[in-house]
Amino acid sequence: MVTKVGIGHQRSGNAMELDEFRRHGHTLVDWMADYLAAVERHPVRAKVRPGEIAARLPAAPPEAGEPLERIFEDFERILLPGMTHWQHPSFFAYFPGNSSPPSVLAEMLTATLGAQCMLWQTSPAATELETVTLDWLRQMIGLPEGFAGVIQDSASSATLCAILVARERATEWQANEAGLGACLPLTFYASEEAHSSSEKAVKIAGLGRGNLRLIPTDADFAMRPDALDAAVRADRAAGRVPAGVVASLGATGVGAVDPLRPIGAICREHGLYLHVDAAWAGSALLLEEQRWMIEGAEHIDSFVLNPHKWLLTNFDCSAHFVRDPAALVRTLSILPPFLQSRETGEVIDYRDWSIPLGRRFRALKLWFVIRSYGVERLKAMLRDHIAWIAELAGMIGAEADFELVTPPKLALLTFRYRPRGLDDEALDRLNERLLHALNDDGRIYLTQTRVRGRYVIRFAIGQLYTTREHVARAWQVITESARGLSVAT
Ligand code: PLP
Repeated sequence: MVTKVGIGHQRSGNAMELDEFRRHGHTLVDWMADYLAAVERHPVRAKVRPGEIAARLPAAPPEAGEPLERIFEDFERILLPGMTHWQHPSFFAYFPGNSSPPSVLAEMLTATLGAQCMLWQTSPAATELETVTLDWLRQMIGLPEGFAGVIQDSASSATLCAILVARERATEWQANEAGLGACLPLTFYASEEAHSSSEKAVKIAGLGRGNLRLIPTDADFAMRPDALDAAVRADRAAGRVPAGVVASLGATGVGAVDPLRPIGAICREHGLYLHVDAAWAGSALLLEEQRWMIEGAEHIDSFVLNPHKWLLTNFDCSAHFVRDPAALVRTLSILPPFLQSRETGEVIDYRDWSIPLGRRFRALKLWFVIRSYGVERLKAMLRDHIAWIAELAGMIGAEADFELVTPPKLALLTFRYRPRGLDDEALDRLNERLLHALNDDGRIYLTQTRVRGRYVIRFAIGQLYTTREHVARAWQVITESARGLSVAT
């Protein structure tokens, strides 16, 4: 009796929920379009202090359900002021984290289907679309045939997978079996400019941070192959086992590009696994004129690029290409009886290609984006961003009290304010104050890095809604704010 009432109640409740869902869905899509149309009304970076948002939220959950109107009201009133607006056209911080209307719509479908795409069987279309779409992307970036793709949640995960494969190869698959205690110490190599995800991967893989060699860079911040070669030889001579290299195409600080051909030759000579972190710059490979970055691609074992950065696909979507998928599967595969299916072994089960078992249907948004924009429009956007950063470099160079610290690398440069008469420490402090002043102001958002020890401001263009005028206006805001600062420090 109770059960019957329960089921009946649930059924009628469900019907009501779907009507409400439809109504609220339409309202929310209207809100989304309005938000994007007027996103410039908001300060780019949230203007809140730590704890301010949490203090405005109830400490305990509601006992009874609340109407969506009220939840949404709180979203607008409490949460929105605490958001940093990554889709703001004056977002020049970090690297871009783009969404785009087709990608958002695909995410709505993905959420609605709610499919868990760990096995081919748990959604054949999701698996097969992932394979096909990633092969489209491989062709778009000029990566040679012979690579198989998988969508990871992040470049950090892809790099971890690559380090794990390198670890297994170098230990003849013994690390997984017997643990690292049974193996000789392994060493890995990345440049001093490499993203911190390499260090994190080495730590997680149990290899020890001390066994990651950060190879010095040349005047252009690229890994020095001679220094890599020397480090590998020194480790060999000391009885260690060099296992893998992470080369960066577009490292985060100033966009350094490591030379793949000589690095690859060293990897082949010493039997090292070569993973390429092109998380940001990989998108620029759509442009034929940027393909010089993958000269030497024949040496690559593993390659990651994030469509969730500069290719209009909502976070998270990280494209990971491997030359030998069997090695990745052998490293990560576990097959308990409850995950077997009739097709096991005959089809791709992407669960074996990533760290987590469960997988969202991420290929859908990438497919929507590529189809909706077409390769040509994506290329046009990338070319615009690269051209505008070159124009900005010209504007910086024209001002005597500013310094272009690193020239444009794709759509990234670094600069600093350099009024006369201040030493380097004073300039560091002044530029830090400038950055805080700019970001507190809210019209633009920038972040910092250090170049050869000195504090500099990064300027990265990559937002879908940015125009040339936004860049020019940002430069005006920067010069005015800088000259309005007192230089006494
Ligand atoms: N590699 C580079 C060069 C990056 O710039 C970043 C993030 O900005 C990452 C890796 C990490 O990316 P993810 O957040 O997808 O792990």
